Amino acid sequence: MPEAVSLRGATKRYGAFTALDHVDLDIHRGEVFALLGPNGAGKTTLISLVAGTALASEGSVEVLGRDVVRDYRFTRRAVGLVPQEINFDPFFTVEETLRFQAGYFGMRLSDARIEEILGNLGLRDKRTANTRSLSGGMKRRLLIAKALVHDPPVLFLDEPTAGVDVELRRDLWAYVKRLASAGTTVVLTTHYLEEAEELADRIGVIKNGRLLVVEDKRELIARHSKRTVRLALEKPIRELPAPLAAAGAALAEGGVAVVLTPRVGEPLSAPLQAVAEAGLRVADVQTREPRLENVIIELLNSPAPFAPATNGATARERPVPPLPPPAQPVEKTLGMRTLYRKEVKRFLRVPGQTILSPLITTALYFVVFGWSLGGRLREVEGVPYIRFLVPGLVMLGVINNAFLNTSSSLFILKLQGTIVDLLVTPLSYLEILAAFLAAGATRALIVGGMTWATAALFVGPYVPHPIEAFLAGLIVALGFAAAGLIVALWSEKFEQVNFIPTFVITPLAFLGGVFYSAAMLPPGFRVVLHLNPIYYMIESMRFALIGHNVERPWAGFAVILGIAGILVIWALWLLRRGYKLRA
Ligand code: ATP
Repeated sequence: MPEAVSLRGATKRYGAFTALDHVDLDIHRGEVFALLGPNGAGKTTLISLVAGTALASEGSVEVLGRDVVRDYRFTRRAVGLVPQEINFDPFFTVEETLRFQAGYFGMRLSDARIEEILGNLGLRDKRTANTRSLSGGMKRRLLIAKALVHDPPVLFLDEPTAGVDVELRRDLWAYVKRLASAGTTVVLTTHYLEEAEELADRIGVIKNGRLLVVEDKRELIARHSKRTVRLALEKPIRELPAPLAAAGAALAEGGVAVVLTPRVGEPLSAPLQAVAEAGLRVADVQTREPRLENVIIELLNSPAPFAPATNGATARERPVPPLPPPAQPVEKTLGMRTLYRKEVKRFLRVPGQTILSPLITTALYFVVFGWSLGGRLREVEGVPYIRFLVPGLVMLGVINNAFLNTSSSLFILKLQGTIVDLLVTPLSYLEILAAFLAAGATRALIVGGMTWATAALFVGPYVPHPIEAFLAGLIVALGFAAAGLIVALWSEKFEQVNFIPTFVITPLAFLGGVFYSAAMLPPGFRVVLHLNPIYYMIESMRFALIGHNVERPWAGFAVILGIAGILVIWALWLLRRGYKLRA
């Protein structure tokens, strides 16, 4: 019978720093396991290795008996992750957020299921609200709802109640208990020891990346913590009577109190009889039950290694649930299509920025360069100048929009942390790449097409080679969408995302013959122009849209295919390596 989660020698290094150090741990099916430890102990790191948002440097990690790397499609479907940080894509509503997340897992949510999930978490009346408008507590609930859309048999809750009010905390506890009693394995990290005490069957304590102890909660408390019974005396005494000292009592508070510290379950009759026999009169009795908090503090502060991690059997109250098969996808390609639809919806939510603004720029180019300068230049290579401009401007729109769509979208996902939503899904790298490229190409072709339509108002709609125009636009769009993805993966700051378009793409595009023909240049400049890849892209479009070009059409197409191919393969290679993505 496979364990819910099983780590063997799991190690995670960040450079020379070891965040998780050869951890062996089994989490049993159906239990609530609390992982406790100070800030930076390695709790989130451990969870990340299981959920797939980080890759282990060494060792193995399994979920329900399957390896999280080799069998990632299975294990990702089996795991739900409620991350520590509250992150949502700000473009979407609560319902859209849930539908997208289910879609990534290949599942479609019925209206009834959405109602059920939202109802369980008290979010029913927020169904159409934008995620930005939710309060902090509601956002936490939505994070949990999002992690549960695919019905995972193993749920990770990374500090689920950080910063929520007492009432919501109690609600969430009740919900976690309901999930656990229905057979969900729950792994919880928290700094509220009261929470672990309330919910957990077993406790794991981690410090400096090493697991100090793993034990049944009650046994742990009973083994390491004592009850305290304080007897306040009517009159202070100077010395503890010998029979009392022999029974393990101590004199406290300057002789006004006797403190007994029996182990849990140890009878008090002997020390109490000794009190009576010594003639001491007791004014008051206070008892303090052992608390997990005391054990954890003692454990973390103990200089010597505590007890070895036992990883032992648990005194479980709930029966072990049957092995729940993680939900199967309804449709194989639904995950990829969902990501594509989400990306397209995202740029269509801000059409002023993504569609209208490039069109206004194009129209201005026509007015300034076409009408005013065109009057003087009249013809270039036997073509009216205003018509000569169209292909270059269309290509400029395609290049910029393909690049910007993927670079900004992926970078914002990284910056906001919403990339986790994708990393925990069973989507393969190829599917993620395909969806991003398709969305980038869609935006590029919409802008390119509309740029052409705007131009058609000035120069008429005749296109000699429409299929070639579409193909040139598509290939270039895919290449630059891949370039945008590479830059977004590499970038850590906004300036870096903007560096390539500002200092590479725009200069190359402007020098690449948008506004002039190669034949107009002196020979030296012509050689330089032929080293510029964007020149060939514009030339191909010129052939397609106005039937005139200096280069042979196949040469332009060969160059753009080659460049797009290299960029797409490069992007896929980086994604496969998890470059700056799966830390
Ligand atoms: P907290 O209670 O504060 O959430 P934690 O136990 O979850 O802490 P982790 O987030 O797992 O701790 O971090 C463990 C250690 O690994 C920390 O010292 C952290 O700085 C380091 N660490 C985590 N992620 C990275 C990363 N991407 N690069 C470098 N170091 C990292």
